[in-house]
Amino acid sequence: METLLLWLFYISSLYAFIPGLITRLFGFRVFRHGSTKDEFALTFDDGPDPVYTPKLLDLLKRYGAKATFFVVGSNAEKNPHLIRRMYDEGHLVGIHNYVHKTNWLMFPDTVKKQIQKTNKIIYEVTGKTTHYYRPPWGIVNLFDFAKRNDTQIVLWSSIFNDWRVKVGADRLTKRMLKKLRGGEVFLLHDCGATLGADNGAPGEMLIALERVLEEAQRRGLRSIRIDEMIQETERIRNDRKAPKSGTSKAFEEKGSKYQRTELSWFKQFIVTLWLLWEKIFHLMFQLQTTNKEDPIFHFRFRPYHGKDVAMDNGDVLRSGDRILELHFDNKKLFTIGSRSRTPVQLALQMIRGVEKTLPELASYISSHPETHDVKAVYGVSMINRGPEKFGFTVTDLPKGWFATSSKMYLKFLLRVIHPSGNTRVKKSSHELVPKLIVMSMDTLMDKYLKDGSYGSHHRLYNKKVEPEEEDETALQATMSQQLL
Ligand SMILES: [Zn+2]
Repeated sequence: METLLLWLFYISSLYAFIPGLITRLFGFRVFRHGSTKDEFALTFDDGPDPVYTPKLLDLLKRYGAKATFFVVGSNAEKNPHLIRRMYDEGHLVGIHNYVHKTNWLMFPDTVKKQIQKTNKIIYEVTGKTTHYYRPPWGIVNLFDFAKRNDTQIVLWSSIFNDWRVKVGADRLTKRMLKKLRGGEVFLLHDCGATLGADNGAPGEMLIALERVLEEAQRRGLRSIRIDEMIQETERIRNDRKAPKSGTSKAFEEKGSKYQRTELSWFKQFIVTLWLLWEKIFHLMFQLQTTNKEDPIFHFRFRPYHGKDVAMDNGDVLRSGDRILELHFDNKKLFTIGSRSRTPVQLALQMIRGVEKTLPELASYISSHPETHDVKAVYGVSMINRGPEKFGFTVTDLPKGWFATSSKMYLKFLLRVIHPSGNTRVKKSSHELVPKLIVMSMDTLMDKYLKDGSYGSHHRLYNKKVEPEEEDETALQATMSQQLL
């Protein structure tokens, strides 16, 4: 039973692969970032709101800025005149479901109905349907990919926490100015009535946005609609690929969405199983995180079972000791994965994520006295030189079918995920062994609790992990971080 559970935990860390995997399998790309130089895209979710949306439209008009509104169908129904205004004033109207609910909690058919219902409302006002869709909280499920050939899913590249009133206009301005450059897709909210948001928050957003638009104007940057940005981005990418032929064929094709390839029934079956497991996993375990707004890791406390592990502080981790078990955040991984073009980029992003999380973990532990008996931070990882850099001790998993099946599983994943997966697996199969990674609480506190000592770790990181590092190492680091 214990082995079975361990195996489930292990697979559960791999659940993080799924959306990225789907993206690869379907050849389908979610749009979240453009390649335009002087144009960025303002997008507004959750509206229309009778108080804030008119003010926002006035503001956009004053600056000649065009935006994309992902509207909630039920709100659109109540405020058709605002949909009309958006359309008349040259903005793009997209869909954000009929009610603000995550797709994970809905049957695929319900999601489909939500989209259709909202589209009908938009059509009744504007005489046009829309193809642009942003799922609430950016949570995409398999069916968003499988059944929406004519729907472009739009996520974002910059998010500012603007749904919280306490962030305030000043901090919001600072955050937005930091990201103000061509190609960025800003996610903002013109309605504060959604679950988890603050009613007055859009008021702060409007103050910040005005300052940002002022600065954008000064720098010669302008906000364009998402459809324009996608088209422009495709044009730029095609020009890069074929610099002499001008506009390429792909661009001329009507509705040139990102390419799709057929999934074999077998792959479909595997992906469906994974998704099912993810749902079960969420139901079974209540994972915590140090950073609710932008989680990179989730964790839970549990007793350790297994062989003694000698940790670097001289202490020994024994069966029954309390540990903090780490799991990588699925959505974060998805974001990182689809933003990265190469395994090296992916690995670096993840390493940065780990680097950001460990100090958060340290301060969480120090401020939660009930966790002070926890002896170590624990995770399952594929062997690589990565975890040691952070202060982890890397040890073998007990031999057995768990280790063996994990290895097979990883080989399979590599084959599917990486374009040159087959050769890679052959070349490095002897190195792809799942390992336990363990860090004593002492080490975590010494290295990461913000009292100055964090710097020593930081230098180490800067020295050792550089983009020039060979691809193979980076890929292994990637695997490792994903399995953490
Ligand atoms: Zn939303």
